[in-house]
Amino acid sequence: MRDLHFFHLTGTRLDAALTPPAHLRPALFAAFHDLTALRYDFPIVLVEGDDEFARSLTSVVDELLREVAPRGMAGERMRRSVLRLEREIRVLLAKGAFGSLTSLWQRAADRLATRGGAPLASDLASARAALRIDGEVVDCDKHLPERLVTHVWRTIERRRMATMRRHLDGLIARLGDLLRADHLRSRSGRTPAALKSAIGPKHQELFDFDAMARLLAKPSGASNLSDARRNRIEAALETLRTEPFFGAASGFDFTFSRADVALAAFRERLPAAARLVRAIAIAELEVEGDYVDATHDDYFATVDERALRPEDLARFPSYLVRIEGARGSEGRTQLLEVLSSSAPLKLLVVSDDLLEISSGELAVSFETRLATTAVGLGGAFVLQSPSSHLYRVRDRLSSALSAPGPSLISVFSGAIPGTQVPPYLVAAAALESRAFPIFSYDPTATVKLSLDGNPQPERTWPEHELAYADAGQQRVVERVPFTFVDFAAADRLLASHFARVPTARETGTLVDMGTWLDDRPDWQHTLPFVYGIDMAQHVQKLVVDEQLVRAARHSIAGWLRLCELAPHDATAPSTSVAAEAPDAAPPEADTLAAAATDAAAPNSDEPYIETPRCTTCNECVLLNGAMFAYNENKQAFIKDPAAGPFRTLVEAAEGCQVAIIHPGRPRDPNEPGLEELLRRAEPFN
Ligand code: SF4
Repeated sequence: MRDLHFFHLTGTRLDAALTPPAHLRPALFAAFHDLTALRYDFPIVLVEGDDEFARSLTSVVDELLREVAPRGMAGERMRRSVLRLEREIRVLLAKGAFGSLTSLWQRAADRLATRGGAPLASDLASARAALRIDGEVVDCDKHLPERLVTHVWRTIERRRMATMRRHLDGLIARLGDLLRADHLRSRSGRTPAALKSAIGPKHQELFDFDAMARLLAKPSGASNLSDARRNRIEAALETLRTEPFFGAASGFDFTFSRADVALAAFRERLPAAARLVRAIAIAELEVEGDYVDATHDDYFATVDERALRPEDLARFPSYLVRIEGARGSEGRTQLLEVLSSSAPLKLLVVSDDLLEISSGELAVSFETRLATTAVGLGGAFVLQSPSSHLYRVRDRLSSALSAPGPSLISVFSGAIPGTQVPPYLVAAAALESRAFPIFSYDPTATVKLSLDGNPQPERTWPEHELAYADAGQQRVVERVPFTFVDFAAADRLLASHFARVPTARETGTLVDMGTWLDDRPDWQHTLPFVYGIDMAQHVQKLVVDEQLVRAARHSIAGWLRLCELAPHDATAPSTSVAAEAPDAAPPEADTLAAAATDAAAPNSDEPYIETPRCTTCNECVLLNGAMFAYNENKQAFIKDPAAGPFRTLVEAAEGCQVAIIHPGRPRDPNEPGLEELLRRAEPFN
């Protein structure tokens, strides 16, 4: 063990046998070697229209199947056909395809038709006819944060724009009516040409405008409008007609890539915004007949951008600033300046890596700490999420983009440069390991900080079951923590911080990383390790160097501090890691665990549920809550097959609308009525 101790303390390998395998990955990734075979949150459809922002492909397919596939076994062929198509779309995307849902559906259906024949083509055609939503399909890749956030922002701005446009057009029409009505009272308003233009073109043929002008030649009275009032209405009308915020393409642009440029544009446009707000206020008073010269003239004479209230600014478009990384002190200062202002700038900061080298040491990057720093500023809406969970936090994303004032949306893309692990897995691992937890901070809410969406918040580190075959080909099942160091094992550039433990050198002095960080055992006689896997899925024990351990302590200290700020029912335990962390910087489902359940291969004699296809109808859980339960995704699995007789399994299979419960074989050969039950179970096995 001496050379492993040496490595742990210095990071230097004295023996080539300690070199970790190429393409090292965390061992808990073993179940996810093919994401196209899993039903999970991705890809998503960026829905066209204003009712909803995005839908997972899986939820679109489930909804479609509820509509077109008959209940039970009668609908099983249709369900299998459409699920094949769903998988084929995932395969196409993994190969680089892109496009709308309807175009990808067609491509996938064409590819399957050659293999599935007429019945499959007929099923897919029926399902396609019932498909009512469309939009661009996007996978969890490097570009997802920008695409999704931009899509949600545009949808929100379109709604805001439509509301304001309707109001402006209404005011323009009513001010125009005031001026037209007054014009008709004047001599110039009673000429044949003026009378003709006052009548709509549809009815112009019905009248003799010369005769009408002669009859009305004598005005019935003086103009109702004073010169001052007419001038005021005309000026307001001109401002409403030429405003640059809510018009067509010739207006302002509201998307930027630099925070300082966006802030300067916002400040530069404030006088124009103040003019428009003033014109709207005057117009509203005029059309209601409430404008009082003696009261309002002085007030409106002094109105400028300083008079703009937050509710006035909230009617204007927000500014989307898409920033990739924020390295460099200038860029960081600009971000903090925006977040300390009251400007409605929506900052999207996407980072591809969570670590940086600072003074020769591995350190958590500025972007990773940016969101917690922004919370400390107090006035900005803050949302942090890895890209793998952006879909799940879409409501909070919408709140961040709708909030008045500045917002920060900080996303870890998972697309670590040079790493072959899919970004979805890397991003989900960042969440699992607390390296990049989900949180939101709403400065206007009663409970401002929310940690909803983080797995197993009652623990310092989430734990998972790891099953593998040991050197003697015996199945071993262990519960292992998923720590920051496990996450780091997905980053090829950090491979130098790991040393493989040759099997012959295992002496029992290794302790898992969670225990090492929490309990600080005797460092002279023990070493911290994590499990990794190579490309051939062989499980390896890996000793970690002290530098990476220090980075892990920094990282978990950030999580524990968040837990202190946002106390929840299941509070993460206070640990020695937090107490001794050096200079620490300021939901919804357990993704890896849930997907691992999905990926488990059933034994045909054992009862099982195709959990990813569960539609959460409650039937089986109501039938026997001890036997059937929901996982973190609220999809059913068999919790305890011995919690009831074989009959219960068969009845549950028959009652399941989507025919995904497989009863397997009976445990008790003496159960009454077994012959009949086996016959009933057969179609479901
Ligand atoms: S598995 Fe249970 S909850 Fe899920 S669809 Fe079937 S009966 Fe409903």
